[in-house]
Amino acid sequence: MTGKTYQAPRGTSDLLPPASERWARVEATTRTLFRLYGFQEIRTPIFEARELFDRGIGEMTDIVEKQMYVFQDRGGDWLALRPEGTASVLRAFVEHHLDQTMPPPYRYFYIGPMFRHERPQRGRYRQFHQIGVEALGESAPEVDAEVIALGWEFLRHVGARGIQVELNSIGCPTCRLPYQGALRAYWQAHADKLCPDCRRRMDRNPLRVLDCKNEACQAVLQGAPVIDDYWCNPCRTHFEAVRSALAALDVPYVRNARLVRGLDYYMRTAFEMTTEGLGAQNAVLGGGRYDGLLRALGGPDWPGIGFAIGMERLMDVLPETAEPVPALAVMFLPLTEAARGAALQGVQTVRRLGIPTWARMDVGSVKSGLRSAYRAGVRFVVIIGEDELRAGQWTLRDMSASRQETLSPKEAVEAIRRALGLDALET
Ligand SMILES: [Zn+2]
Ligand SMILES: [Zn+2]
Repeated sequence: MTGKTYQAPRGTSDLLPPASERWARVEATTRTLFRLYGFQEIRTPIFEARELFDRGIGEMTDIVEKQMYVFQDRGGDWLALRPEGTASVLRAFVEHHLDQTMPPPYRYFYIGPMFRHERPQRGRYRQFHQIGVEALGESAPEVDAEVIALGWEFLRHVGARGIQVELNSIGCPTCRLPYQGALRAYWQAHADKLCPDCRRRMDRNPLRVLDCKNEACQAVLQGAPVIDDYWCNPCRTHFEAVRSALAALDVPYVRNARLVRGLDYYMRTAFEMTTEGLGAQNAVLGGGRYDGLLRALGGPDWPGIGFAIGMERLMDVLPETAEPVPALAVMFLPLTEAARGAALQGVQTVRRLGIPTWARMDVGSVKSGLRSAYRAGVRFVVIIGEDELRAGQWTLRDMSASRQETLSPKEAVEAIRRALGLDALET
């Protein structure tokens, strides 16, 4: 009888080796690099009260209106799978009074899955993964530049090529109001040339039209009013200071006056990063300042700034590493049942040196053992047959050279260490 088979739900995927190894390397880089900038890891639940996201993202946004996974649990509570990370981090910050119980800086990073009910298409997932940072309580423009520098350095460290940083300031509530008015008037005057989506949202969310990729809309927005003419003095000064801090930090960027952020609570600094291998409209990293959100979620009236990186997109554009690290470096091959105990001890000895090792216990023939060693990409095979067992020796086969010699375990381990350059990666 054959069993029924199952597939992962639509829009989700299994992360299999060796891709999982690449992900782990990127996550390790995150943990090392982000700490250098004073960010510490925070882990929040993957579901929260639904209301948190209504409040923290904005009820009028596509995410909350159309994409959020909302459900009522058996106790009758309305919950939502988190569609992004910021609201949860800020909720945790407020809930645990971190502003009073911890010393500054209030800088956090997270790594984890997010959920949105998107139409499945290439590069869009219903469970996707983000790496993000939030810096709370720091309003200085230099902090904006530092956060941008961290994103840029991170992309460089993980090997992304052709990184482009785009920068804008979308003003504050004071200066955005007249700008939105001017945009609305301009869209209305050109409504016949806008796509249906834009016609629908031009009144409610005139900034989002700037973001439309439709060709006809692109032509219209060439002549649209620009935010620069509407910035209030504090916004103008802030933006200029961000620019000079970026210059001081040697982070190259381009100004994109049409860059806006999708979520309601963003203000002033907005930025995105694209890399080689991505379509121009697909940022791998997006972020901005969101002063006022923390207060809206019941916390202190503190400013905040952060960014999020789409892991799937990032992994898509990262070049394959030239020399993939083999998952297993050494394989033991006992040829008799009596040799299995010696093999097991040998495996443990080699593993203690930090070398991934495996014993193929059930083979019995050198030929088929070597075939599986070859398929697994191992560098060394240790063969223990009757003769080796009697003499207390190992036959060490270097798969890369197709050469083998019989050595004492001590000599063999030394040869493996030397060949793998283990002194350099001492644990
Ligand atoms: Zn302003
Ligand atoms: Zn449009």
